[in-house]
Amino acid sequence: MSNKGLLIVISGPSGAGKGTLCKALISRNNKLKLSVSCTTRRPRNGEVEGINYFFVEQEKFKDMIEKDELLEYAQVYDNYYGTPRFFVDKNLNEGFDVILEIDIQGALKIKEKYPEAVFIFILPPSMEELKNRIKKRGSETEESFLKRFKCAFQEINYISKYNYVVTNDVIEEAVKKLESIIIAEKCRVDRIKQSDIFIQLQEGCLNE
Ligand code: 5GP
Repeated sequence: MSNKGLLIVISGPSGAGKGTLCKALISRNNKLKLSVSCTTRRPRNGEVEGINYFFVEQEKFKDMIEKDELLEYAQVYDNYYGTPRFFVDKNLNEGFDVILEIDIQGALKIKEKYPEAVFIFILPPSMEELKNRIKKRGSETEESFLKRFKCAFQEINYISKYNYVVTNDVIEEAVKKLESIIIAEKCRVDRIKQSDIFIQLQEGCLNE
């Protein structure tokens, strides 16, 4: 018998380090998959097609919306971002846990469709540090930097929509917290159907 995987939604202000944490998480756990989003934004230096994003033109993005190929999508800053449906459904059905690293608008849409998902908000240790991290990335224009930094204040107001908050100060510590959240969520009684418990015990797959 295969259990459906856990859907994990990770959001937080630009520069909080979500990408770094997600990469660290999936490199340590082969039951975890990271969904690769589509975006109309241009690639940054070093970003790789299919690894960081699927970089698409607006026309293609609209086409995906019309064909209902996106689980959710949103306009973030000046570009569109969306989660391809096929990858998420396939992996959840095969028992893999799937991480969506998406913005708050997207997270709220996922909450409507998948209320059983786990919602985690990543915070920087301070706003000063957030500013340094965005600047250090060196990929934003001054205008884009200001937009992202201002947005951070609005985004933090939505923290109460999430189940967990993790501060990303020391990466190793933050990753440990995320791993602990995932382990605890998988042990929740309300995630296991009572009628499945004996079957899972027979098959030795409870809490996997
Ligand atoms: P960036 O341009 O820095 O890569 O991403 C900008 C914002 O878009 C981040 O908050 C990121 O989490 C969010 N984002 C990335 N992919 C998606 C997606 O598929 N859907 C939504 N709603 N937001 C996304």
